Amino acid sequence: MMTLLVATRNKHKMEEIRQVFALPGLTLLAADEAAGLPEDVVEDADTFEGNALKKARELCAASGLWTLADDSGLEVAALGNAPGVFSARYAGEPCSYAANNAKLLRELEGAADRRARFRCVIALCAPDGREWTVDGRCEGRIIDAPRGEGGFGYDPLFVPDGHALTFAELDPDTKNALSHRGHALRRAAAEWGGLLIAGSARLPPCN
Ligand code: IMP
Repeated sequence: MMTLLVATRNKHKMEEIRQVFALPGLTLLAADEAAGLPEDVVEDADTFEGNALKKARELCAASGLWTLADDSGLEVAALGNAPGVFSARYAGEPCSYAANNAKLLRELEGAADRRARFRCVIALCAPDGREWTVDGRCEGRIIDAPRGEGGFGYDPLFVPDGHALTFAELDPDTKNALSHRGHALRRAAAEWGGLLIAGSARLPPCN
């Protein structure tokens, strides 16, 4: 049985990761289930890829375990792709999903163009220093008032293309089938599954 550390303390993300990234022979360990890891990694890179790699690298170095990290966020066309890497703290600290959603609605007041996409980059770091990334995205639009109780973050405001319900109204399996994180995790499982389960080293480094 191989243990893979997941560099997140976000319970919602961890739940989605467990639902989609369930590989036989692999045990997922969330950062808050392991003792002695740094509380928080400073996410100061200006890309999702940079932040995902930074989180995976720091916790891999601290734990000595193979480590997976996700960095994700919302890009809104009419806002020049904001909030992007600032999605978690869009309305400032302390981070609040309700305040972020209220700010997004204020910024988009009267905007006809409501197009938005969620993006997610997942990074994997091996204790010997090799690292890889995959990404996923989900296109949709921002509605003008929150709807639904499920999910987290901007889910109550985001309707994926081809659907009428928000991510917060769709059931978790449907969200995972459509979402940026679901796409990235399935790609990660397909590309890295054999490597993780074998615990061996057949993949070339990403660049
Ligand atoms: P991170 O923890 O730095 O990756 O920040 C991710 C932020 O992006 C979250 O706090 C949410 O605001 C937003 N976000 C990422 N993925 C989702 C999602 O699936 N639904 C809703 N909001 C999301």
